[in-house]
Amino acid sequence: MSRVNTVLGPIPAEELGVVAVHEHIGYGMPGSELDTKWWKTPEQRYEETVPKLRKFREYGGGTFVDVTGICNGRDIDYYKSLSAKTGVHIVACTGFVGGDTALPFFERAGVDYLTRQFVHEITVGIGDTGSKAGVIKVGVSRGGRMTELDKRIYRAAARAAVTTGVPILTHLAIDPEPAVAVFEEEGLPLDRVLFGHADDGVNADSTPAAWLAGLGGRIGFDTFGYETELEDPPFWARPRQERLDHFLDFVGKGFLDKALVSADANCSPLGWPGVKGHTVNYLFEDLIPDLRGAGLDEPTIRKLLEDNPADFLTIRD
Ligand SMILES: [Zn+2]
Repeated sequence: MSRVNTVLGPIPAEELGVVAVHEHIGYGMPGSELDTKWWKTPEQRYEETVPKLRKFREYGGGTFVDVTGICNGRDIDYYKSLSAKTGVHIVACTGFVGGDTALPFFERAGVDYLTRQFVHEITVGIGDTGSKAGVIKVGVSRGGRMTELDKRIYRAAARAAVTTGVPILTHLAIDPEPAVAVFEEEGLPLDRVLFGHADDGVNADSTPAAWLAGLGGRIGFDTFGYETELEDPPFWARPRQERLDHFLDFVGKGFLDKALVSADANCSPLGWPGVKGHTVNYLFEDLIPDLRGAGLDEPTIRKLLEDNPADFLTIRD
C-alpha cells in the first residue's frame, strides 16, 4: 500500500486530497522563543491557526505539509491536536530550513549523527509523540552559497532518504550544483527531491529550474501569494502576473510532471509579525482561479495539487 506519514499516523497516498506541499503552522528563527516581545499563549496560536485550517478544509484542502525545521518552532503535539480538531492531514518534517537555522548542538554534529537523527524521526518517531516525519527539510543558508554545514545536512538528508524512502524538500535551489552532486554521490534519484522557492522575488533569476527538472528534480513554485500587490509586501515579493507567467512558462516547457505549487504561508508566525493578508488559502482563493483564467483545465490543476504531491510524498520502498 502506498503510504505517507502524517502526524496522526500513516495514510494511503490516495487519501491526501489537495495538498499544500510547503507551508508552516508557525515559523520563527531559532531563539525567537526567548524574546519576550514575541511570546504567544497556546490560545493565541490556536486562535490564529484553527480558522485558516478550517477554511482550508472547507475549500476542499486535504493535506498541509509543515516544513518548519527542527529549530524553527516545530511542535508535533500541537500539530496533532490541530489535525484532530480540523480534519486536515498534517505532515511534519525532520531536518533544518538551512544550516544557518541549526542551533549549535546540531551545527557541531557530524553526518552520521544527523543521519541517525533523521532516520529515527522518520522510522521510530519524533521524540515521544509517536508521530513520524513524512519529509526531510534542507536548505541553503543566507548568503546565496551552500556552506559546509549546509552540505553536511544535505548529505545526511540524502542518506536518510535512501534508507527510508521519504523525500527531501529544499528551502531555496540557488547554487544547486553542490546539492545535485551530494544527491548523486549518495545514490538518491532526483525525483525524490523538491527544489523549492524557484519562484520567489529574490531567487527566481538564479534558480536553474529547467536544468534541475531536466535532471529529474521536482520544482517548487511554492511562494505563491507573496506579491508586490500586498499592502506591506516582504522583500521576497514579486508581481503576481510575473510569477504566474514564470510558472506557466515552466509548465509550457513540458515540465508539468515536475511542478509543485504552494504558498509558504505562516498560520501563526513566531518571532516576527508575518505577512498580512497571506495565508495557505491563497491556493483556493487566487491561484486556482488564476490557473483557470490562464486556460489550464481541471485535470491539469488536479495533477498539480493532488497527483504530483501524492507521488512525491509516497514513501518509496
Ligand atoms: Zn517555508
